[in-house]
Amino acid sequence: MSQPKIRLFVNAALYAGATVTPTRDQANYLFAVMRLTVGDGVTVFNGQDGAWTAEVAEANRKHASLRVTVQTAPQETPPDLWLLAAPLKKGRIDWLAEKACELGVSRLHLVTTARTVVDRVNIDRLTAHMIEAAEQCERTAVPALLGPDPLARLLAAWPPDRALIFCDETGGPPITTALDQGPAAILIGPEGGFTPAEREAIRAVPQAKPVSLGPRILRADTAAVAAISVWQATIGDWKNTPSTQ
Ligand code: SAH
Repeated sequence: MSQPKIRLFVNAALYAGATVTPTRDQANYLFAVMRLTVGDGVTVFNGQDGAWTAEVAEANRKHASLRVTVQTAPQETPPDLWLLAAPLKKGRIDWLAEKACELGVSRLHLVTTARTVVDRVNIDRLTAHMIEAAEQCERTAVPALLGPDPLARLLAAWPPDRALIFCDETGGPPITTALDQGPAAILIGPEGGFTPAEREAIRAVPQAKPVSLGPRILRADTAAVAAISVWQATIGDWKNTPSTQ
């Protein structure tokens, strides 16, 4: 079923007949910027109930509401891939959160390491970036955002069934040779890289798979996008894309 182009993330249960009140910013966007009027359709999603069409029922700033009509897409089940990355400077971490969402991770977990230089993370801003990315790329799930948590704590409680794909700039087997089906997490270090002690601690985790992303040292944000892309193309949901032939 075709979906109206404008997509909004809403904090409301979605079912036929539900009424959704847009936030002030959303109302401004819908009615002042996009000039929608009563009866126009938008697509809404809440991260749980798939995508739905909703019609504008009231279209002024004081009284704005949408009436949910039909479901247009089921809730997606994203591949079970986490990204573990150290917080980066403002522009770069925003970019990383946006790209991780677009590329389809299920979770972004921020990790603090010995050489992490950024100590404050604006979780609300990062969440807003991921929601915007989900709206734009037609996802119905917004990745969970966790942390920041110290690397040592995450390693100590590493889930037994989850591969830890450790992107190690000092070298390792090519990433494509180290990927297996099943839950996974990609671990990327901060701009300054991991310390030798951290590298040792990561390698001591039985589920750890140290990998190389090639002969060049990539920036942390580039490394994250490259590793997620390889994982998606090799064992993730890029393989499920319908063929046009
Ligand atoms: N220590 C480096 C920079 C680290 S790059 C230096 O200053 O020289 C930031 C992170 O990106 C690394 O910790 C690693 O996780 C990842 N990364 C960058 N290039 C990589 C490569 N060629 N192979 C594997 N991981 C890489």
